[in-house]
Amino acid sequence: MAIQWYPGHMAKAKREVQEKLKLIDVVIEIVDARIPVSSRNPMVDELTANKPRLILLNKSDLADPAVTKEWVHYFEKRNWATLVVDSQRGKGIKQVPEKVRELAKPLLDKFHAKGIHPRALRALILGIPNVGKSTVINRLANKKITKIGDKPGVTKSQQWIKVGKEMELLDTPGILWPKFEDQDVGFRLALTGAIKEEIFDFQETSVFLLRYLTKEYPDRLKERFNLKDLSEDVADLFDEIGKRRGCLVSGGLVDYDKTAEIIFRDFRQGKLGHISLERPKE
Ligand code: GDP
Repeated sequence: MAIQWYPGHMAKAKREVQEKLKLIDVVIEIVDARIPVSSRNPMVDELTANKPRLILLNKSDLADPAVTKEWVHYFEKRNWATLVVDSQRGKGIKQVPEKVRELAKPLLDKFHAKGIHPRALRALILGIPNVGKSTVINRLANKKITKIGDKPGVTKSQQWIKVGKEMELLDTPGILWPKFEDQDVGFRLALTGAIKEEIFDFQETSVFLLRYLTKEYPDRLKERFNLKDLSEDVADLFDEIGKRRGCLVSGGLVDYDKTAEIIFRDFRQGKLGHISLERPKE
């Protein structure tokens, strides 16, 4: 569910995340593989600074595989542990517990040094709305969610889900809001379903998409809308697509709202193929 954020909401969400962080050993941050930077709140780095963190590039089935590789490289260069997953189909999810163990090795070593048999590692799923947090939790829990009761000294409402023998997940994910400072970030969030349709402008969003596709995926655009050439003027291109799709109002003028919606829906329904809306800058 998309959530609309107000300052009060934001402060509360941050507090809730901070509370949850106190209970766990490892953070599993989920981002959208199509927009790995736009789909994270930069505050997450600061919030989770003293916890090992694994980043899941989720919805990889919808992203451009070549660009996803560039992102993996980008994250690895920063020494951030990363896995590419498609949680809807469960791809890549099996590797998560193993990666978590690797990341928590210093903690496990501490247990061993004290001669204690290590307890299960506690992990928190964290991410913006709609990025796939619940889907990942269900996948990791293998759909058979086992509630294992409260921990002493822990808020009663917190429940833990067993993932194999060596890992436990908090049953409610940490939710952070996306960052809207940059308009392009807003467009990317709108296109990927991270924000409610009522709060963005279809025409502006579609024009953003057309500009981006003209630059990054011109052939897909030509193929989908049966165009020989792509006009350099995005308004002309928009008109052309409207005409091709028969989105006309009386007098033969193009119906902008309808055209914008068609472009938007085609993207959302994957009719333009696997597309990433963001590439690493370097
Ligand atoms: P949450 O708000 O972060 O908990 O997100 P959800 O788990 O509810 O997922 C939001 C939407 O994204 C749902 O419609 C999911 O089916 C879909 N989704 C989640 N993961 C994937 C994925 O890896 N691939 C695709 N194609 N869709 C996904």
